[in-house]
Amino acid sequence: MTPTQILAFIREKEVKAVDFRFMDFPGLWQHFTIPADALTEDVFEEGWSFDSSSIRGWRRINESDMLVQPVSETAFLDPFARETTLVLICNILDPSEKRDYERDPRNVARKAVNYMRATGVADSISVAPELEFFVFDDIRFDQTPHSAYYYLESVEGTWNTGRDERPNLGYKLRYGEGYSPCPPSDALHDLRTEMMLLMEQCGIKINGHHHEVATAGQCEIDLLPDELVKMADNVLKYKYIVKNVARKHQKTATFMPKPIYGEAGSGMPIQFSLWKDGKNLFAGNHPYAGLSDLAMYAMGGLLRHAPALSAITNPTTNSYKRLIPNSEAPVNLAYSRRNRTAAIRIPVYSPNARAKRIEFRLPDGSCNPYLAFAAMVMAALDGIKNKISPGQPFDKDIYDLESEELARVPKTPMTLEEALVNLQKDHEFLLQGDVFTPDVIDTWIWYKREKEADALRLRPHPYEFALYFDI
Ligand code: GLN
Ligand code: MG
Ligand code: MG
Repeated sequence: MTPTQILAFIREKEVKAVDFRFMDFPGLWQHFTIPADALTEDVFEEGWSFDSSSIRGWRRINESDMLVQPVSETAFLDPFARETTLVLICNILDPSEKRDYERDPRNVARKAVNYMRATGVADSISVAPELEFFVFDDIRFDQTPHSAYYYLESVEGTWNTGRDERPNLGYKLRYGEGYSPCPPSDALHDLRTEMMLLMEQCGIKINGHHHEVATAGQCEIDLLPDELVKMADNVLKYKYIVKNVARKHQKTATFMPKPIYGEAGSGMPIQFSLWKDGKNLFAGNHPYAGLSDLAMYAMGGLLRHAPALSAITNPTTNSYKRLIPNSEAPVNLAYSRRNRTAAIRIPVYSPNARAKRIEFRLPDGSCNPYLAFAAMVMAALDGIKNKISPGQPFDKDIYDLESEELARVPKTPMTLEEALVNLQKDHEFLLQGDVFTPDVIDTWIWYKREKEADALRLRPHPYEFALYFDI
């Protein structure tokens, strides 16, 4: 919709409130609300002032006012607000010079797309993330201690499935057998369908949903591909809908990558392809998987920069608890048609050249999708520009590999700190075209180290009590 159409829509649907949404630096959706009749066409041009001093990771300037500039094409009706409320996703403007604020993640994503076009390599990118998440009973509504407390119980070697006690008293999922028996074993089917329908109602195109492998309520709803910035907007909508539908049913949902020790973690693999003049640039006749040379170089760029990229695509201390061997998590920095422990998978089934794509499996749902998508495309473009070879495919089953052979395959970082050190060393590719500025990189590393990696390192950990309390 254009601004004029939005104003007409507000009158026609008797919209009462307009909710401005934007994202803080680490990746949480923020909002504030104005009366619907206060919205004018001017606001789409000039922006609306708000106090940003408490937004995480943003500069504390003396005048901490920033401008939100709503983007009219992002409008959707909030399915959860009691009064009819129109949501508008916003860009952030720095009021001093009236220009896009460099730490606004949406701005970084827009710049990445502009840079991609400016290189002449591609004019669009098609992105489809697969977000996984866990649904737990909300302990505020149910006083039995599990879910959030689960972690404390899940010590090594315990056959522990959260609230499921032995013996199995009726259609309860057995350990690691969540994928994908019918109800009543799958108790979250209706919840996911409700989420899926609301997503469609809010303008997200859906591929389908299913229960994931982990026993205790791991879910996945897959999105159909869309253009990069729009898809990052959609990821935020997706999380909003998942969390609010869960809440409505007295449950709680989390995208943290590894909530339960010993169960599968939650990832956000991203399938993508680059396009020019309506043609998929990844389709080709390279003997391996029918990809183009350009796609091979894109993979080369992703693999070379993966140790640094992971500081953005896997940006929490918890991310590295997902990235462990002997799970379906992508720990091997290699590409493969079938092995899901490889950081890049090439989906075997692509019915035609338009559908050729690669799946970057590293990211997880704790990332800021604007920054993660932007960083991913920058690494791919760097690979294309410098013709970086991705090396040999990694097609053997992991169990068939000799341990020496496996040890030679480069691995993902083991900790957030290790990823941050890699990002510090390797971020030239992100600075191209001013997409990520040095200020954005420095602030990211500072924020993630001080507020997260160090903050955790300095605190006694619950598991240390299990190990050492009675020493
Ligand atoms: N849960 C796995 C991960 O963490 C992915 C499982 C799958 O989709 N095959 O990436
Ligand atoms: Mg999937
Ligand atoms: Mg999955």
